[in-house]
Amino acid sequence: MQLDDLYRRVIMDHYKNPRNRGTMEEESVTIQLNNPTCGDRISLQLQVEDGIVREARFTGEGCSISMSSASMMTEAVKGRTKEEALVMADKFSSLMKGDEVEFEEYEDLEALSGVNKFPARIKCATLAWNALRKGVEN
Ligand code: ZN
Repeated sequence: MQLDDLYRRVIMDHYKNPRNRGTMEEESVTIQLNNPTCGDRISLQLQVEDGIVREARFTGEGCSISMSSASMMTEAVKGRTKEEALVMADKFSSLMKGDEVEFEEYEDLEALSGVNKFPARIKCATLAWNALRKGVEN
């Protein structure tokens, strides 16, 4: 897979130094999702209070795209309202369709824009966002 160098560096940084990896003790919802085509597994823990995503943690295993996307997603949605989080999820879907999208909220997300050229990997990138959607909409 050939991605722009800068983008690849951002992705590898999140893969090697994942943000918000781990679990939390506080009361929270847990969403588990798999991407069988690649073997990615994610368990996302969300603490939502007064309509705000207070905390987001994840564990799991998988390819660099799925794990870096989870790292970026958790970092991007922390402290946001549920509505803002869902708007970001929609924007991320557009990004995966090849639309030009800017994430002024969290620029690192744009590093995954190149994934739309590799349809097999789109499910890797959207796994964490699908988990977020489930957790927030419940
Ligand atoms: Zn994958």
